[in-house]
Amino acid sequence: MVLNREDGNHPTMIGPVLLHEKKTQSTYSLFGGTLKSLEPDLKNLMAFGSDDEKALVGGFNESFERATHLLCEIHVRKNIDTKLVSMDIRGECKQSIMDDIFGRKIGSVFESGLSDAGSAEEFIRMLESLEEKWSSLHQNGKAFHSWFGLNKKEDFIRSVISPVRQRAGLGCPPEKFTTNRSERTNGVLQDCVKRECGTAKTDEYTVVKSIEKLVKNQEQELELAVLDKGEYQLRPEFRHLLVAGHKWTKMTNDQRKAALSRVHHVSLEESSPNSVATINTRLVQGESRVFQQMLSAGVDWITPDVLKFIAHKAEGLISEGKVTELPAASAYATFIIPSRSKPTKLHVIIEYANGKVECQDCQGYSASFLCAHAVAASLKRGTLEAYLKWLVANKRKTGGLNYSKAITFGMPAGRGRKGDRPP
Ligand SMILES: [Zn+2]
Repeated sequence: MVLNREDGNHPTMIGPVLLHEKKTQSTYSLFGGTLKSLEPDLKNLMAFGSDDEKALVGGFNESFERATHLLCEIHVRKNIDTKLVSMDIRGECKQSIMDDIFGRKIGSVFESGLSDAGSAEEFIRMLESLEEKWSSLHQNGKAFHSWFGLNKKEDFIRSVISPVRQRAGLGCPPEKFTTNRSERTNGVLQDCVKRECGTAKTDEYTVVKSIEKLVKNQEQELELAVLDKGEYQLRPEFRHLLVAGHKWTKMTNDQRKAALSRVHHVSLEESSPNSVATINTRLVQGESRVFQQMLSAGVDWITPDVLKFIAHKAEGLISEGKVTELPAASAYATFIIPSRSKPTKLHVIIEYANGKVECQDCQGYSASFLCAHAVAASLKRGTLEAYLKWLVANKRKTGGLNYSKAITFGMPAGRGRKGDRPP
């Protein structure tokens, strides 16, 4: 929402803070539970990120069962690098394996690695095909390959590869995920505590007091930005929150309060580009309108290739005049489309009042509630939008995620040792 006036970067704002003595799973579980009770909407949290700390991941999984967990690529890299060195794989051999895992840049072209796999199946296929290469690269290459399979395969499929990051709202194609930002938060906090209390050991009360001061200060700076003053500057998208000086002087106290408070209540949609927006801006010009509509509705758990195929086929069915509406067969609109594979067979499509469109006895449909016939029927009737809305909502209800409103949380790595030491 705001940028530092000085360097034009996004400032690091302080979010919820937990002081703890032990980094155990129950500590993090308590933190997650508290956040949820303070902000009930967080039960729909779509994603959170972490370094590879087991207690944190476990604790947050307890509170946010439906959220996707992302792993910080920098931490995963470090971990794998260390393993390679410990197996005496160094230099070019090591680099080559790292590039196979995380991708490489050749000139301006990025060549995908394992972490960019488009699906779990693709990841497994890619990994299998690397066994021979790694074995021939180094005498311990085969051993590393089996270590990776045992220790990293699941993590990558669950928390690293492309569809996971896309689901978490990192765009399409998705950006890499790191916890850099949240580690910066940790730095800001430590600087502030040091400034306030010096380097001597401080008690919890003093720490909390100085964090409170820091947060208050940030809130004030945010309000100052409304008047185009202070450390921060509103980004162009939020210039509508600005109040000009001559207006301010004429405002009553209550009006001033209201103008300032608006900056604290900017909704998520206003403040951050969601995956849908990202997808839309990256859409290749000239793609089919139906395909674009499916993407903007938030259908991003089905790969774009499949969506494109369905859209293309549905548009074809319409233009070939294959879709016929039956005259008032029942309370619901009913359509028939002749099957392409079996000319004697008909697809029967029913549209319900809640937006649901059903294609009966259709394999494609039963897998994902989406097929070219259902799309074609709703196109014919002009109800595609309602159908897509139902589809996305239904995906959410059945335990899937509504990826279109992803919130990503990075968790600080912390600087203390894990598990046994007070900070
Ligand atoms: Zn069908």
